[in-house]
Amino acid sequence: MQDHYEVLGVAKNASQDEIKKAYRKLARQLHPDMNPTEEEQERFKQVTHAYEVLSDPNQRAQYDAGGSMFGDMGGFGFGDLFENFFGGGQRGPRSMAERGQDALLRVELTMAEVVFGAAKQIDIDTAVTCSTCLGTTCRPGTSPKVCDLCGGSGSIARQVRSLLGNVMTTSPCNACRGYGQTIPEPCLDCRGQGRVRAQRTLDLNIPGGVEHGLRLQLTGQGEVGFAGGPQGDIYVEISVIADEFYERDGDDLIAQLELPLQDAVLGTSVKINTFDGEADLEIKPGSQSGDVITMKAKGIKHLRSNGRGDLHVQLKVLTPTRVDSKEKELFKKLAELRKSEKPTLSKRSQSTFGRGRRR
Ligand SMILES: [Zn+2]
Ligand SMILES: [Zn+2]
Repeated sequence: MQDHYEVLGVAKNASQDEIKKAYRKLARQLHPDMNPTEEEQERFKQVTHAYEVLSDPNQRAQYDAGGSMFGDMGGFGFGDLFENFFGGGQRGPRSMAERGQDALLRVELTMAEVVFGAAKQIDIDTAVTCSTCLGTTCRPGTSPKVCDLCGGSGSIARQVRSLLGNVMTTSPCNACRGYGQTIPEPCLDCRGQGRVRAQRTLDLNIPGGVEHGLRLQLTGQGEVGFAGGPQGDIYVEISVIADEFYERDGDDLIAQLELPLQDAVLGTSVKINTFDGEADLEIKPGSQSGDVITMKAKGIKHLRSNGRGDLHVQLKVLTPTRVDSKEKELFKKLAELRKSEKPTLSKRSQSTFGRGRRR
């Protein structure tokens, strides 16, 4: 088989635009409407096939890497290409090729995966181009046949009498359902669909910082359409599993540390689990309930910029609820020593309660 790049007369590093232009030019010269010679018809098939491969970044990469995904079966290549280049106006037969359907998938992420991002592999059940007919729906070695009834136009014109006299109306051809062509021998492997069901593994690179409910759109990665039509899109909806300890606030993480009273008074050092591993938290003597210790840049990766949010640990001082008689004695002694202290109402501006409610 001839090199696809040579067939189109473009350089190996040609852009998609150059490839498209080259194809368009050749296709105009060689198109079946131009009464081509047999040799030209053959070239047209080659040109079309070369274009099909090189215009699809995946297939092109595969071809460049040394093998066409579809082996050596080139030469069939009809479908929506014609429509793309010669259509425009909606005259003429409609294309058999239809765009594949979109699919919605859900992916569950742990908070750790949200913090750093995650590579995920998901098996999907989808439709791929039939490798026997390459989406043409024709059995290999056969080709679509111009519809006898409409002569390939896809529509039937009739003269109808009306108040204005005789007028011509057109309606889609019943014999070919408007396609202008029929498939005398449908491909057996796909039963004339041009596509087959298949399992495919989707490699997802989910960036850090995605929100619960976010939908990532994977353009053109969905199922292949009927008769080799373009692929639909895949939407991946992110679902974040609630973490046992950490809550999200923007790109910050918030946890609460329950602190025994004596540790709040005397201060201590605590080891806590963060998403970056174990970390030491210094509790200062005299810490209050509600105090927040912030660990800079230990939160969630920003989705649209570099860097990470912070991790905040809020202290919750625990008052002992049960004390034995000995402890009770000690608290009484303590109370005696600190008897100048009296409970007082806090001023509204200093009340954490008020701040929380009023912002
Ligand atoms: Zn097939
Ligand atoms: Zn017809």
